[in-house]
Amino acid sequence: MLFGRKNRKPIVIPKKEVVEWKYSTCNYCSTGCSIELGLNDQGKVVTSRGHAGADVNRGKLCIKGLLEHDLFDSAGRGSQPLMRDKAYESFEPASWDQALDRTAEKIKDIQEKYGRDAFAVVSTGQLMTEEFYTLGKLARGCIGSNNYDGNTTLCMASAVSGYKRSFGSDGPPGCYEDFEYTECFMAFGSNLPEQHPIIYWRLKEAREKRSFPMIVVDPRVTMLAQFADIHLPITPGTDCVLINSMLHVIFSEGLQDQSYIDAHTNGSKELIELVMSDTYDPKVAQHVCGIDEDRIRTVARIYARAGSAMSIWTMGINQSTHGSDGVANINNLNLVTGNIGKPGGTSLSITGQCNAMGTREWSSCSGLPGYRYLENEKDREYIADFWGIDPEFFPKKRGLAQTDIFPAIETGEIKGMWLIATNPMTSMADTARMRKIMEKLDFLVVQDCYEDVETNQFSHVYFPAAVWAEKEGCHTNTERRVNLTRTALQCYGDSKPDLWIFNQLSKRFDNGKVINFPESAEGAFEEMKKLSVGAGRTLDISGMSYDKIERAQGIQWPYTEADAKRDAQLSPEEKPKGASRLYTDGKFQTADGKANLISVDFINNNEQPCQDFPFWLNSGRVVEHFHTRTRTGKVGNCNKFSPTPYMEMNPDAAAELGVVHQQYVRLASRRGDAVVMVQLTHRVPRNMVFIPFHYHDCVNRLTLGLLDPYSRQPAFKQCSVRIEPVDQDEAAALNVQRRAF
Ligand code: SF4
Repeated sequence: MLFGRKNRKPIVIPKKEVVEWKYSTCNYCSTGCSIELGLNDQGKVVTSRGHAGADVNRGKLCIKGLLEHDLFDSAGRGSQPLMRDKAYESFEPASWDQALDRTAEKIKDIQEKYGRDAFAVVSTGQLMTEEFYTLGKLARGCIGSNNYDGNTTLCMASAVSGYKRSFGSDGPPGCYEDFEYTECFMAFGSNLPEQHPIIYWRLKEAREKRSFPMIVVDPRVTMLAQFADIHLPITPGTDCVLINSMLHVIFSEGLQDQSYIDAHTNGSKELIELVMSDTYDPKVAQHVCGIDEDRIRTVARIYARAGSAMSIWTMGINQSTHGSDGVANINNLNLVTGNIGKPGGTSLSITGQCNAMGTREWSSCSGLPGYRYLENEKDREYIADFWGIDPEFFPKKRGLAQTDIFPAIETGEIKGMWLIATNPMTSMADTARMRKIMEKLDFLVVQDCYEDVETNQFSHVYFPAAVWAEKEGCHTNTERRVNLTRTALQCYGDSKPDLWIFNQLSKRFDNGKVINFPESAEGAFEEMKKLSVGAGRTLDISGMSYDKIERAQGIQWPYTEADAKRDAQLSPEEKPKGASRLYTDGKFQTADGKANLISVDFINNNEQPCQDFPFWLNSGRVVEHFHTRTRTGKVGNCNKFSPTPYMEMNPDAAAELGVVHQQYVRLASRRGDAVVMVQLTHRVPRNMVFIPFHYHDCVNRLTLGLLDPYSRQPAFKQCSVRIEPVDQDEAAALNVQRRAF
């Protein structure tokens, strides 16, 4: 039947008229997809496509990567530096010299009056690695504040801390290729299809070729849980109980890899003593973690009997009051079953931001560049000598983490701050408290691609930064793969690459005249290569070059000069290849080369649902948005899928309260309140609600964010709330305001 068809005009997608493709790496999540940006004959980037030859994504991109070219001239971009005397007053445009001079002057004033650490620097996981290295030089070597950290404390600090405690060093030991070998896959608090869609696609492809069990631990029936063979809907915050109970079964039934434990670990006696106690007998543990004893036994047996087994995790483990312990306990599970450093056997943290790894490796946030420590005298002397400054300029131990910097503003210890590509007014817990903290600062600089970023309301100076492909440099992804972005187009307006801003500010400090600050990203990369060499160093990039990275579409570290010599013989079609895995020889970065089995007991110290606040509040990402929506909120084809803050709620719980689908409700916690639209779904249990964390003035008005004692990472995913009715017209008007980007 052709009724009505004869006059219908087919949709014609206009040709993009691409004349050149520029190589790049996606600047959103840590998957590390290789992108090509298509330029037309006017030099404008008009499209993006996945690089077909890249091992990571093999031509694919998720919605964010496919639309990444829409960022360059999206609304709210900063085009010139701005200054004002007081927060909320109107900004005056300024020249770069005026803005940089004012900033250097104010930093020095504050430091002279209150001490060097009274000025804090907080950065991000979004810059290029060369920029992180340069910022580290500026913050540690010139400004000299020990209160310097990255917002990666909100996402990856527990993974870093857990790796260091277990293996003696940071650095994810596995890779995506492990999906192709593993005989058992277990995910803890990780919803790959929405958070890291291309990693999920790699996993799915591996499972289509070869069947292996997939076990997903998550309190919510996430998209990954829906595809799992076994879903363990755990009680929030009890992962340590579940893993200890699995270890109880493994040791009781003699399923451990004893020869691996004997040869490559310390601490097994203490671990066995703990996990064999009655507390972790599945009969008892089931009442705490919410997983029945049969399931615990079944999963433990499947995992331990597999020829190789791997665990991945994301924020469900890291964002907890015992995130570092949770990571150490996943490492315990893999060490006890001999699943580290072998194909398909690994502990793989799935990183959050595109270059969270770059900041971990090179930014000096938690120490000194190249995984060196402030606490180590030799490291201090080596870096001071390399930079040409006095080692005494460095503090002898690490200062405050990001999450401790804000309370130190509250108490008056810190008077000034520089925020780089981070937006704490949306990302930090307890928004009302954060507002008061921001108002207390004598001086705040905000450096961001977008001048309408919420935290900029409180700044005195604003530095407009370039977006990722307006500059050049590297990212490191979740599997230690260093990948490159080439400059695709000129910076927007008078915005500048972050590297340029750091270099210019360094000239205004005494040590900035002593330390070499290369002008180009490649110059900084060459310096980092020299710093990466050293006996036994895993983080060795000395064999890499920009051209080689582009040719290989990313190289995993370590990649040494010897590897480069070997690869010099390759034909033009062959790619240089770094190390797929760490610790393949069972030697770890500890004093005796053995990994540490760390006994992790369960302490129930977080907020729980109660009579007044009867629902667990859980939070996480959706695929179309990234972090605080600074970028994806401006890309129409991303934002249209979820422009309104919403909450997943179980239909049975909703019926009890008389709440209906798409109704607005008010949520209240002990900290504050938030208005959201209800989406009814069985993805959440009756006593839980879930809110995507991307929206300003939403979930973090409610969260408590207690800190992990080792990593200082906040427990964003556990607090309690109640649900109240709200005037529907007022709520709708509020949401229209929120959407008006
Ligand atoms: Fe970018 Fe991550 Fe999507 Fe790949 S999966 S395109 S890296 S956002």
